[in-house]
Amino acid sequence: MFIPQNIIDNIREANDIVSVISEYLPLKKSGVNYKCRCPFHNEKTASFIVSPSKQLYKCFGCGKGGNVFSFVMEYEKLNFPEAVEKLAERVHINIPKDKLSTERASNYKQIYDINEQAMEYFCSNLILHGDNALAYLKSRNLSSDTIKYFHLGLALDAWNGLMDYLKRKGHNEKTLLSAGLIKKSEQRLSDKFWKRIIFPIYSVNGKVIGFGGRIYTNDQQGPKYLNSPENVVFRKGRHVYALYQTKQYISQDKSAILVEGYMDAIKMFNFGFRNVVASLGTSLTENQAKLIARFTDNVYILYDGDSAGRTASIRASRIFLSTNIFPRIVILPKNEDPDSFLEKFGEQKLKDRIKSAKNFYEFILDIFGYGNDPNQDRKTVKEILESISYIQDDLQKEIYVREIAHILKLREESIWKSIHNLQYRVKDKDSKKEANNYKYSEEIDIIKFMLQNPDNYIIITDKIDDSYFFHPQCKKIMQLLLSRKDIPDIISNHSKLLDLFADKDRDFVAGILMSNTISKDNIESILEGLKFRKYNFDLVKISEKILKDPDNIEYLRVKERIKKEMEKLKGRKVIKLRG
Ligand SMILES: [Zn+2]
Repeated sequence: MFIPQNIIDNIREANDIVSVISEYLPLKKSGVNYKCRCPFHNEKTASFIVSPSKQLYKCFGCGKGGNVFSFVMEYEKLNFPEAVEKLAERVHINIPKDKLSTERASNYKQIYDINEQAMEYFCSNLILHGDNALAYLKSRNLSSDTIKYFHLGLALDAWNGLMDYLKRKGHNEKTLLSAGLIKKSEQRLSDKFWKRIIFPIYSVNGKVIGFGGRIYTNDQQGPKYLNSPENVVFRKGRHVYALYQTKQYISQDKSAILVEGYMDAIKMFNFGFRNVVASLGTSLTENQAKLIARFTDNVYILYDGDSAGRTASIRASRIFLSTNIFPRIVILPKNEDPDSFLEKFGEQKLKDRIKSAKNFYEFILDIFGYGNDPNQDRKTVKEILESISYIQDDLQKEIYVREIAHILKLREESIWKSIHNLQYRVKDKDSKKEANNYKYSEEIDIIKFMLQNPDNYIIITDKIDDSYFFHPQCKKIMQLLLSRKDIPDIISNHSKLLDLFADKDRDFVAGILMSNTISKDNIESILEGLKFRKYNFDLVKISEKILKDPDNIEYLRVKERIKKEMEKLKGRKVIKLRG
């Protein structure tokens, strides 16, 4: 949905952040601000601050920060348009449907319609022409009820069955291609799925967004499973298979079982495990974990028993840990998956396995072992500490460190030290993560100054550009500011500025906006510090080039020029080199 900017601004202005957050949390006045315990992490003392003047919130414990829209997004687990809509309702503002949004909506609607009609077509194929496919599904012990409940279908052994059907329904080739169920190769259009059992994939709200297809005879070519391609309505990493059909059971049972594939999920459901979901063939993403977390924070990971499945279990458990869910992992025998295990041992044995599921470190201890071989022990400990480093909640982290120290007979201090080292390494790898802020203090100060002084930003933009910035988020902000003609406008409205950033970037910008002010008197020396750092960087670069090409006159000249600039700065003796 497209919402015009002026409407968004009206909705923002009508929703005072203090009164909105007060509807969720017990805010208490504290100086010019309000505060309370943070809803996004566990804490004993209040470090969640709401500023009525800036219309921002920021948690100085976990770092979360943003404006009234992002608060509703985070708290209610909504996307941006949904949050805007919710706040529009709160203040009775109508969101007009303009031409662009109508067009976009109609494109979405066409794809949803195509998917819905394709599903009906596949389902009727299974009933009318699906003797072999049905025999196959029955041989896998799936009941007719289960087959109907998940709307399983059949793609015929024909290249144009679906295409002709959808054309008769009035769709043109262009929309059919954009829905992804028809493909074009060598100028010829044909169906994407041939002779496969079809598993429709639903969004959590019950819209058909895509399909999976599985071969069911031995003579068939191609991969065992095939998915429809991603498009505007289907993004694999954002959906969880079967969640639409099982969310009521997940809420009832207050738990969810996560398996790897469609067939596992359907089989589990068929055998009475109704709170099951699957991660759509891809490895679990943070979005998927958050989606499951909307319904329960009690998750069982039930992947294949082979070593790939075990590695994937550890990986998935870390994704959950990073979203504050503490999953339990079910161990299957080496050569079994949930489907084959149910066939061989029945549902009671699987129930027993689920009951004795391990937490993340018990699982690692179980499969890697501990106490027999020092070399293996080191690997085991490393895996466990790596998992702990994903935990966001400090209190939980501390509890686990204490437990692990006790079990492995290690000192807590050394465990903490290793975790810190691990986290820094992870951060080094991922430049998007907030890096060592101290090292970047000039960059941060300059961004602060610009954002806090809409009238004076030109002092900065006249002298430097984004090439002076190395801190990933500072660089991003600088690039954004330089690319906008309406700089004063966006800088002067902090809440509006925050709409331009998401996730960690938004937390970072909110932190900057809430922090101490930078005086104009200091800005010259900060700028010089920044320049000095940049020259240093350039000097290293050019020296590397000279090493490779020592006779290049131009390189030598550049080096001389940089050195001179640095001398000039040093001469003023105002530089306090930090970091
Ligand atoms: Zn917090």
